[in-house]
Amino acid sequence: MTPVTHFAGKHVALFGLGGSGLVTAQALVQGGAHVTVWDDQAQARAKAQALNLTLSDLHIADWSQFSALILAPGVPLTHPTPHWTVEKAHSANIEIIGDIELFCRERARLAPHAPFIAITGTNGKSTTTALIAHILQSAGHNVQLGGNIGTPILALEPPADDKIHVIECSSFQIDLAPSLNPTIGIITNLSPDHLDRHGTMEAYAAVKERLVAQSQTALVSLDDAFSRLIYDHLKSRTDLRTIPLSLHQSLPQGLSVENHKIIATFNGPTILGPLAGLRTLRGAHNAQNAAYAAGAAHVLNLSQEQIQQGLNSFPGLAHRMEEVGRIDHVLFINDSKATNADAAEKALLSFDDIFWILGGKAKDGGIASLAPLFLKIRKAYLIGEAADDFAKTLNGQVPFVKCGTLAAALQAASTDALQGQAPEAVVLLSPACASYDQFQNFEHRGDSFRSAVQALIAQHNVN
Ligand code: ADP
Repeated sequence: MTPVTHFAGKHVALFGLGGSGLVTAQALVQGGAHVTVWDDQAQARAKAQALNLTLSDLHIADWSQFSALILAPGVPLTHPTPHWTVEKAHSANIEIIGDIELFCRERARLAPHAPFIAITGTNGKSTTTALIAHILQSAGHNVQLGGNIGTPILALEPPADDKIHVIECSSFQIDLAPSLNPTIGIITNLSPDHLDRHGTMEAYAAVKERLVAQSQTALVSLDDAFSRLIYDHLKSRTDLRTIPLSLHQSLPQGLSVENHKIIATFNGPTILGPLAGLRTLRGAHNAQNAAYAAGAAHVLNLSQEQIQQGLNSFPGLAHRMEEVGRIDHVLFINDSKATNADAAEKALLSFDDIFWILGGKAKDGGIASLAPLFLKIRKAYLIGEAADDFAKTLNGQVPFVKCGTLAAALQAASTDALQGQAPEAVVLLSPACASYDQFQNFEHRGDSFRSAVQALIAQHNVN
């Protein structure tokens, strides 16, 4: 835990008692603040009570006593409409901040030069964050990994010169962190997302830009229009170093990927890592994530060998093109995190001879955009609410069968794949849908798939 001393002796209001809210309240109390906490959900309030936090209805509190409102990142700050606590904080003329901001203030006080890598972007945040942490850890560093990826930032050990904090930040967290000033800031890529919460793409990109604007070294892509605009803003600044990254062009001072090799040219030309054969980093999207991670490690002066060793031994993240097993020539891949067509496209691009399990709760746009990849699909196995819609799109282009459940789809797909002639076939769960019609969330769906595959493998080994 990182005790937050910034508000010692002062009163603060905290709204939003999910995992990070509870930890933040405890960190503030440990640092000597008087914290009044609240949440609209009785269940969340019960958890705060169990931790002996001071609960009081912020609707009727005296806001003139508070020095700040500490807000959970899921609570609307501006769009679609500001939350009622935000209105109250504005009326009381107090600042509204989140846990990342509290961490930054504590770092400024305790160890302003403690290495701190912050990662944001529309896609690839978690993979890039986990990979950076893994490379640094395998090179022997004390790594504190958290933020949006899992462990709340204030649950980690306090910043210190011999610890490297590697923190995934969502746009909502950045919005609540005005003094975010990482040693290395990374924006993986930008495309329209969460516009209900940010209003416009420009506003969303502007929030993301704040993660790199006060960094010492910024790593930014040239491969999408909004990231390129950010690069253009940063490149003439002399108070920070900006390193561009591209998968499509060689860069005289930057990071690129050529012939499956990551090339860094910002500290003299160096090959940071061949990517060919890395089974946990398949696909062009993962080449981008790997290039960021290798680039960040290179900025921190890790050797080529250390970076390569980290890339080679990365176990990958669950539910993102995760290899869950193999029977003979058939590989089973859990890509349950692919909840829309864009994400499923990444998986379809990464394999051939695909027996594709898809469906669930459909998102706008369906799977029509994936038609150019249909040639790779031997057969599709449809599950959940979207089955009828997807069947219409596939009709006449890809053989398909409506299976209803994931278990039935796996059974059918594995039987077909094992009978096929391809040297390597893939049974791929990449649903292009949300999971809520049949599962609690994408993790539950992926875990169910993994268990069912393991049972299938066990059965196969017995026979
Ligand atoms: P995030 O944390 O930003 O949601 P993840 O690393 O969890 O990203 O990856 C989620 C999904 O996003 C992956 O399964 C893949 O489909 C897609 N993805 C990952 N990295 C990238 C990238 N660099 N560019 C585009 N899409 C990506």
